[in-house]
Amino acid sequence: MKFTPEKYAISDEKGKAFIDENEIWNYINNTTSTKEKVREVIAKSLAKNRLNLEETAILLNANEPELIEEIKQGARELKRIVYGNRIVLFAPLYIGNKCSNNCLYCGFRATNKDAIRQTLDDKQIMQEIEALEDNGQKRLILVYGEHTDYDADYIAHTVKLAYNVKKGNGEIRRVNINAAPLSLEGFKKVKQSGIGTYQIFQETYNKTAYQKYHTFGKKSDFDYRLTSLDTAQDAGLDDVGIGALFGLYDWRFEVLALVRHTNHLEACYNIGPHTISFPRIKDFSKCDINDSYFVNDADFARLIAILRLAVPYTGMILTARESAELRNEVIHFGVSQIDGGTKIELGSYSNSINEHQNLNKEQFKLSDNRSLNEVIDELLDNDMIPSFCTACYRLGRTGEHFMEFSVPGFIKNKCTPNAILTLVEYIIDYAPNHTKEKGWKVIAKNIENLSSDEMKVSVLEKIEKLKQGERDLYY
Ligand code: SAM
Ligand code: SF4
Repeated sequence: MKFTPEKYAISDEKGKAFIDENEIWNYINNTTSTKEKVREVIAKSLAKNRLNLEETAILLNANEPELIEEIKQGARELKRIVYGNRIVLFAPLYIGNKCSNNCLYCGFRATNKDAIRQTLDDKQIMQEIEALEDNGQKRLILVYGEHTDYDADYIAHTVKLAYNVKKGNGEIRRVNINAAPLSLEGFKKVKQSGIGTYQIFQETYNKTAYQKYHTFGKKSDFDYRLTSLDTAQDAGLDDVGIGALFGLYDWRFEVLALVRHTNHLEACYNIGPHTISFPRIKDFSKCDINDSYFVNDADFARLIAILRLAVPYTGMILTARESAELRNEVIHFGVSQIDGGTKIELGSYSNSINEHQNLNKEQFKLSDNRSLNEVIDELLDNDMIPSFCTACYRLGRTGEHFMEFSVPGFIKNKCTPNAILTLVEYIIDYAPNHTKEKGWKVIAKNIENLSSDEMKVSVLEKIEKLKQGERDLYY
């Protein structure tokens, strides 16, 4: 598959900044949205085409309640017809909160003297991972501040540590990273340690706003941050995650810029981002950020639906920064991954750091404090399949969302069976009785809907093997 660059991305160069503020504002200010145009754009997306900036702007400028509902309905439809009812689950693990940057919105920023700085030692990391495995987690994202202590060697070391912790049937099968940009050599080293996705959020794509929020440290260099995932690609790390922190600048600008970033990676590297994240600013220790750009729930739901339609083949991540109620609503607009049972205070999965010590070690406040099992219960109640699948990554199938999207039968022959098998493992090894009961029902129903009798027989055989004690079976 070769992506044809959009006209604005034709002259993009690897490693060169690509955001043109005027271009983005031009699309926002000079694109009109009529009912017909909005419907045409939704239809284009439902026919499995990525939208360009102008088409995305048409959706962004649709302000009538009726049209907003049609956009949301389009996103629901896309999610249903393309991705089905699976939701992949993961957990973040904060490794250390030392930081030499000063992002004004973050509790870890260097000038926050109230923050108690700490890095988990190897023993604590292992205890945390054992606790996560005891809950049934299989996929982690390791999170670090930006500090000389957290260089590529250290990150690679913690990744290997995570893969090596095995408790009972528990194991971590995919480790993703959210950390500062690395050098070319650094990205290569971390790739060799076996990571899945490397996430770096631009926070805001507006340079002027960016400079206001990032007052010193390496992160204050807008272009360095913007092109860091190019460096990752140059290092052979083609599985990258982009994101914007909503609330720092106009949300419509950020949505278009995320699409622009996607186009840039497609134009220069022939592969878009694996995932897009859209965190919203949450309360944080001793910070005073002007709330003029904060995004309300209605606009937040709207922007997720628009992103889904704009980049139909990119994974979308929604975190526990948001409340359970909101997550339950917007998940249907095309979210593919959520975290469950999340704790972001250092050492808090295993309580390896006592509560008193733990004051002021979190980056911000979470809104969804449900346990992993509670999240799974609710997904099952809504007829969704909670999945811990890591098959594509393990089999070297990169561009998995693209395959889900474009390879006929991929979801029915790979994703759904794999989601079922990982749910079976969870049910056998970790679920309480009431979850087992509804889990088996959802599994039976989804086996019934598989594409062929052959596949049904094959999945049932594998489930039998899981019941006999085998683990980690996938297609
Ligand atoms: N230090 C690395 C960096 O800045 O890229 C990675 C870790 S940082 C802890 C992960 C992300 O958390 C940031 O990229 C930012 O988008 C988000 N974040 C920071 N402060 C936040 C807040 N107050 N509310 C919600 N998300 C926040
Ligand atoms: Fe440090 Fe990242 Fe927080 Fe910025 S967002 S202060 S770089 S941990």
